[in-house]
Amino acid sequence: MERYDVIVIGAGNGGLSAAVTTAQAGLKTLVLERHNLPGGSATSFVRGRFEFEAALHELCDLGTSEHPGTVRKLFEQYGADVDWRIEQKLFHLIVPNDLDLVLPTGIEPFCAKMEELVPGCEPSVRKLLDLGKLAGEAQSYAMKPNASKLVMMTKYADFLRMASCTTDEGMEAIGMPKKAQNILNTYWCYLGAAPDQLDFLTTCQMIYKYVYYNPGMPNKKSHNLSLTLESTLRKSGGEIWYNSEVVQILIENNSAKGVVLKNGKTILAKHIIADCSPAAVYGKMIADDVPRPEIPLRLANARSIALELETMYIGLNRSAEELGIDTYSTIIMSDEDPEVTFTKSNGTDKGTFIANCLNLIIPDSSPKGTCTLFLTTFGDSSFWGKVKPEDYYKIKNQRMRDWVDYYEKNTGITIRPYIEEIAYATPATFCRYLNTPNGTPYGYQVTYWDNIISRLTSMDKETGYKNLRITGAAAENIDGYNLCYLNGNIQGRKTIKDAEEDR
Ligand SMILES: Cc1cc2nc3c(=O)[nH]c(=O)nc-3n(C[C@H](O)[C@H](O)[C@H](O)COP(=O)(O)OP(=O)(O)OC[C@H]3O[C@@H](n4cnc5c(N)ncnc54)[C@H](O)[C@@H]3O)c2cc1C
Repeated sequence: MERYDVIVIGAGNGGLSAAVTTAQAGLKTLVLERHNLPGGSATSFVRGRFEFEAALHELCDLGTSEHPGTVRKLFEQYGADVDWRIEQKLFHLIVPNDLDLVLPTGIEPFCAKMEELVPGCEPSVRKLLDLGKLAGEAQSYAMKPNASKLVMMTKYADFLRMASCTTDEGMEAIGMPKKAQNILNTYWCYLGAAPDQLDFLTTCQMIYKYVYYNPGMPNKKSHNLSLTLESTLRKSGGEIWYNSEVVQILIENNSAKGVVLKNGKTILAKHIIADCSPAAVYGKMIADDVPRPEIPLRLANARSIALELETMYIGLNRSAEELGIDTYSTIIMSDEDPEVTFTKSNGTDKGTFIANCLNLIIPDSSPKGTCTLFLTTFGDSSFWGKVKPEDYYKIKNQRMRDWVDYYEKNTGITIRPYIEEIAYATPATFCRYLNTPNGTPYGYQVTYWDNIISRLTSMDKETGYKNLRITGAAAENIDGYNLCYLNGNIQGRKTIKDAEEDR
């Protein structure tokens, strides 16, 4: 029977990063992936002459070679060579009949623009950015093995003080005018919870990182990041098996021992890292007669599954310039109040709508004289669950028509006559592809009661079984490309430590 030091289930961002980490430490590492290619969400697909980016709007925490953020440093540390691109604008925000503005990156230009838009808001905007920086530093410090409670209580006191604030409460507490709150709360759509629930320090960190490090992208598509990590893994002695779905994690005496594949094959390993949702791990992958650990199970049941997406991929037979598209990221909020847009972000109503034109960052990302649009809104799997199979395509077609109309009406840019390819992904598409509950790519909502500090403190109690760790979007360290790469690295390092202790 085959034996490995480490088996990683799933070749998503978290799984690949974990596997590179353990393989580079000399542990015999095997990744098992149910698809025939790596990446999970971080992939691309082809229709006609277009290769579409499947998931990445923008990378947080990349930075430049002079000011590298976590993602750039991690890829450098892995020796994974990537040609990165940096976007100079944060986003173009449109609230019909109310706002039409573009926010710049860089602390000073950003603060100046916010002050111009909402006179008097600058001190509170600076406070929010400071808190974002502090929260990042505090989080890194808290994860160090020798972190001292005294340092946390003195140097990072504001981090602890704001720990269980909602974004609404935090913004009020720092005296931010309502209009400035509404503008900055546009970011809820990347964080996946309404500002009256969303953890304030998570909001501060994301805004700070986008403003300071700029939104980033790999040249080409995010699938190339996955391929780069795959080749780095192989060079480090690791293996990946595709078309290899894990159906069972073997547990003996409360400790992980190996896995069983769909084809019945058993593979043994001393350590397992699952790039899967805890719902799948406890619900489907552990034999019924193995007792479930109480705390992680309660946590998995108590948390709210993050938002579900509906996305549209359009190939246009005109260039961005010819069409008049001049900003990479345009966000249309149907109402100035983020709580209203959150409630209406269900696929049927018009709540939040994100439009990305990759050619603005990577001009040759589609054939010459063409461009692509990646349009994202939120969905509701309970709606799609009730749709009859014979109506599925009819409803998708209607949605595509509606969203194209909505985009044209709100941006004043005509695209309909130039559409050459169009595809629509619903929560059902993501569910089938990712194997996550309701198809969410975001794990769990990061709410005020399930905030950074409580997640940090429960990180080591994550699975309840010895030698089984969880990474990816539903792990404690939150979702998104940057945090999944980081979380994979953290779980990989913890596994290396477990392996050293076992010797
Ligand atoms: C449309 C869209 C837009 C997004 N935009 C952004 C963005 O702009 N910025 C950002 O930071 N994040 C964004 N995200 C979120 C980000 O992509 C995810 O949070 C992140 O990629 C999740 O990584 P993961 O490690 O959880 O792996 P996943 O992407 O969930 O992949 C898990 C992998 O495990 C495999 N797997 C699952 N179960 C098994 C099993 N039993 N056996 C074998 N293999 C298995 C799956 O096939 C899959 O390949 C977006 C996601 C989507 C879908």
